[in-house]
Amino acid sequence: MILILLGPPGAGKGTQAKKIIEKFEIPQISTGDILREAVKNETEMGLKAKEFMDHGMLVPDEVVIEIICDRTNEDDCGDGFILDGFPRTLKQGRSLDDMLKAKGLQIDHVIDFEIDRETVVTRIAGRRTCKSCGFGYHIRFSPPEKDGVCDKCGGELFQRGDDNEATVGKRYEVYKQQSEELKGYYGKKGSFHSINGMLEIDDIYRKVEEIIGKGHDNP
Ligand code: AMP
Repeated sequence: MILILLGPPGAGKGTQAKKIIEKFEIPQISTGDILREAVKNETEMGLKAKEFMDHGMLVPDEVVIEIICDRTNEDDCGDGFILDGFPRTLKQGRSLDDMLKAKGLQIDHVIDFEIDRETVVTRIAGRRTCKSCGFGYHIRFSPPEKDGVCDKCGGELFQRGDDNEATVGKRYEVYKQQSEELKGYYGKKGSFHSINGMLEIDDIYRKVEEIIGKGHDNP
């Protein structure tokens, strides 16, 4: 299954992807995560991307397209994958189609999570992630039992450098500008679904299941 999750930062794409992974053994591919790792490791790509990311701007299409080409060629993608945060522009969407076509593959579902600007800012400003296991928290809506410490593994929680109010606003605007075209593109192709991303996590997941099925654990 090849699944694309669309939506602004903070729409819950990562959270839903993690729930989908529990039922379908396919990897989540987040260009944001891959870029952050590259920035942390100060690779050539990371150094190039950092400037854009720090300002809430999109990294050039060529860079992220190459990331996706390489990553989807890895062995664990044989049964499909979930794209989280890619494509973000029409050019990326078209490149993805070309890439899949060349492999005889196609996208099964595109799911768009709709959420307003104010909710995005509130969600993102309170977002914290575990440095060790990557589990996500929100200081108001789903806080850890002990401040700054992961309930799951005891790891240290941190706030992403670009999860501050100024950058979040910019990221939302950038998303809005680019996404209409992309949504129109997928809307015409069929297999496009829109979900209210302001609902509770489990209610959203139920809607996701209605679209993609329940996976092998829940026949
Ligand atoms: P995210 O974690 O998806 O919110 O992405 C964090 C940042 O990484 C974005 O603000 C962009 O600077 C960059 N980024 C991630 N995915 C893409 C993409 N598909 N195209 C361009 N830039 C991206």
